[in-house]
Order: sequence, then C-alpha cells, then structure tokens
Amino acid sequence: MSTALIQGLVIRQQAGFYAIFAENREITCKLRGKLKEKKINEDLAAIGDRVLITLLSPSEGVIEKVMPREKAFYRLAPTARGECKQILIANPDKIFLVFACAEPAPSLRMLDRFLVIAEKQKIPAVIVANKVDLVGEQKAREIFDVYPRLGYKLILTSVKQELNIDLLRCEVQDSISAFSGPSGVGKSSLLNAVQPGLGMLIGRLKESSGKGRHTTVVRQLIRLEDGGFVADMPGLRSLSLWDTHPEELDGYFPELRDLVADCQFNNCSHIMEPGCAVRRALAEGRIHPARYESYVKLRNGDE
Ligand code: GDP
Ligand code: ZN
Repeated sequence: MSTALIQGLVIRQQAGFYAIFAENREITCKLRGKLKEKKINEDLAAIGDRVLITLLSPSEGVIEKVMPREKAFYRLAPTARGECKQILIANPDKIFLVFACAEPAPSLRMLDRFLVIAEKQKIPAVIVANKVDLVGEQKAREIFDVYPRLGYKLILTSVKQELNIDLLRCEVQDSISAFSGPSGVGKSSLLNAVQPGLGMLIGRLKESSGKGRHTTVVRQLIRLEDGGFVADMPGLRSLSLWDTHPEELDGYFPELRDLVADCQFNNCSHIMEPGCAVRRALAEGRIHPARYESYVKLRNGDE
C-alpha cells in the first residue's frame, strides 16, 4: 500500500476506532500511537474532525494527523486529572434547534437556553418550528416571532403537510450540521422527509445509547445523498452552563449585547440596579419580557 497521505473526515467514533470518510468511501482507522503521547485534556479526534490518514488496506488505515479544529460543540467533564474537554462534534457549520408548535408545547425557555449554548460555542443556530399544521402558519409565526427579529433564522415546517421541507433540505446540504431539540417534536420525521431512511438511521443510534444501559455512545455523522452530513446531538440538553460567568451572559443575548454599555454601573446585573439600560428597554417594549425572564433565570442559575 502507498504511504501517501489522504484527507478525510471523522464520521464515527467507537471504542478506539474511527470511521473516516475519504475518497468516497468509509475507512476504519486507529490513531497513530505517537498522537496519543501528547497529553492534552481534550479528545484527540472527534466526529467532524478533518484528518490525514495513510492506508493499510483499501478499507483500513491509520490517522497520522488531526487538523486544527475551527470550533466545536464540547462539554467539560470533570476527571481525576482535572477538567476534560469532551468534543461532541467538531467543526459544525450550524445547529438546528427543533421545537414543535404544539404536541409537545414549545418550551421557549429551553430554546433560549439552547441559543445561549450555541452563542457561547459560536455555532450559528437555525430554529425549526415543526408541526405547523397543528396551529396554522399565523399562530406559528406569532409563537416564534421574537427570534427572527433577533437575527436567528426560523423555518416553519410541517412533515404532515410537507411544508418547507425543501427549504430544510437546502439548509442541510453541503454542510455539517447537528440536530437537537426535545423528543417528540419530529426530528426523525423531518430527517426522513429530507432524505428517506435518514431519521431511522439517527433513531437507531439513539436506541443504542439509551439511558441506564451500559452501551457505548456512538457518535456519528450521517452522509447526505446530495452532499453534507448531519449528526444527532442528544447531549445538548445536558450541556451545563456552569462554566459560564454571569457577566458573560450579556454577550449571548443579541438584544442585550449593545445595550449593556449604557447601564449606569458597569457590573450591572440588569435585575435591580438603578440606571439600567436593559430594564429601561424592557419597560419600553424593546426587549421581549419572556426573553428577559430567560436571561434572569439563566443568570440566577436556575436552569
Ligand atoms: P423525535 O422524537 O423528535 O424524533 O420525533 P418523531 O419524528 O418521532 O415524531 C414524534 C411524533 O410527531 C410522531 O408521531 C410523528 O408522526 C409526529 N409528527 C412529526 N412531524 C409532524 C408534523 O409536522 N405534524 C404533525 N401533526 N405530527 C408530526
Ligand atoms: Zn443593566
């Protein structure tokens, strides 16, 4: 076999092995031993990482180098040696936050929390409001009205009525994206509508990582026929914000970002201080009361 380096993408990770997508096929690889000598408190390779491999056979190889990550969805896990950065997905281009307009009723508080996580990790978020058929388009727009005004992309979908599935398909094409949201909102159904069988692949993955059972969590990117990859991100719910300082939060709410400079006190918590520009904006209707409430809840740490 040639020792030429081949570029690839990590699409699955399980028990020390990595499935690499390269040259239009899947190649099973291990990490070159010397890569493991470097002591860093961070996963060496994760789904979404771009790597250079050498082949041992047409279907097997060795990861020689992991390219620097542009960004990642990660979670900080405490270990015996201190904190460890667990990479859930490297280099995601966007994250889809899927909620239903009804059944289950959308928890905008949870959406706000997810948006803060996406802002903190600098991943563009696309909000998908599914099951529009249950409430009608006008009502759906009303429920999620504040988000497009803050600059977030909002797609109203219905799997049942095939509403805006083509839009969603365009959004996932040619990018690496993660799907998150509460269960029952229609994530699998949406993915199946985008590409037949896709939701099932992701669903099967969820089963094997069911809580309470000692099964290894398989993290994987699923390749789309028209180009691009999607991953399920069930971990988002459990992503804690404990490593976020209260003052940092200002920057993760687009409507507060530019206002806070006008507060009388530069350490203003925007909860009770006099001369608070945020509360003035709230009183004048320039900040949505529910968003402000989400801010206060997150700031106080009662998530
Ligand atoms: P997941 O847990 O987020 O993957 O949700 P599923 O895709 O399993 O869907 C949960 C339930 O919602 C199923 O019974 C689906 O048939 C239903 N569902 C999904 N999309 C829609 C929709 O657009 N409209 C309606 N009325 N029901 C939907
Ligand atoms: Zn203030």
